[in-house]
Amino acid sequence: MKCFESKYNDIYKTELHCHLEGAIRTATIIDVAKQYKINLPSYEEAILNQSVKVYDQLKDLQSVLNAFGIAQNTFVSEKVAGRIAYEVFEDAGKQNIKLFEVRFSPDWAFCKHQLDWDKAFESILMAKSKAEQDFDMAIGIIVIASRGMGLPSCEKTFNWAKNWKKNILAIDLADSEAQFPIHHFKNQVMKAKEAGFKVTIHSGEDTPAQAVIDTVNEVCPDRIGHGIHIIEDIKAVQLIKEKEIPLEINPWSNYLTNSVKTIEEHPLKKLFDLGIKTTISSDDPEILETNLNNEYKIAHEILGMSFDDIQKCNLYAIEASFISEDTKKHIKNKYFC
Ligand SMILES: [Zn+2]
Repeated sequence: MKCFESKYNDIYKTELHCHLEGAIRTATIIDVAKQYKINLPSYEEAILNQSVKVYDQLKDLQSVLNAFGIAQNTFVSEKVAGRIAYEVFEDAGKQNIKLFEVRFSPDWAFCKHQLDWDKAFESILMAKSKAEQDFDMAIGIIVIASRGMGLPSCEKTFNWAKNWKKNILAIDLADSEAQFPIHHFKNQVMKAKEAGFKVTIHSGEDTPAQAVIDTVNEVCPDRIGHGIHIIEDIKAVQLIKEKEIPLEINPWSNYLTNSVKTIEEHPLKKLFDLGIKTTISSDDPEILETNLNNEYKIAHEILGMSFDDIQKCNLYAIEASFISEDTKKHIKNKYFC
């Protein structure tokens, strides 16, 4: 559940792992659908929420796929892409997130309505500049290749990203790690690295520790998305610690997708106590009906992390962020010292 308790909302925060496509407000989905004549299961927010949000631990994948399908269908124009982005930044700003990295998969998000990638991205960049001013926050953008869309899509995405090298900080691989392990994409990731992009990879979310070991051995990413299953293999923990690779951890998402059986057994604190550079994020805050305040509440009230521990995670995140050193220094001095 989204949380706005002041003891969490008042904390200055960082968030490194948030998907644009999973962060669209229900009211916006309805508004856009009405304007562009898009079919929805309902135009009442409370009723539509049943189709666009995941409230309970996953029993079937279909409900999540349906929710993402509606999100995808909301990217109806380049202008709407900018609106969605601005609102995601606004929702982050309202939680006092001062350093925020958002990621999206252009091929996935823009394919349904065949948007012009450059125009849609220009619209997102305008939203970013405005939000940075309006909410006094630093924003970074990461581009994702969706593994399930295949190698040509990955190649297209990373090649396109090169044209926007000044505005895209890093590349990521998401979804279906079990089906499409890292070695399928190694060449593309290494080429992106050579082109100067930072790299974060979704790994060890619903896959075992070995997947993370393979990811590190194959492409040595700067960060790992999730990575929580390293807790099951001391060799994986040692590798991540030795290489000082930060983890982008999303507790409520991991519970809802069944990557941990109960929220109480989420390994965030254990990994933190082992000296892993853990950072805390919300993944898909609208679809998963969470926000970063809620993730902090879980970390504190359920997993037993102190506010000092959480602050340490924020410092890890600032260090690990792909945003420029000057900007990070400014944000750190202003909000995190
Ligand atoms: Zn993710």
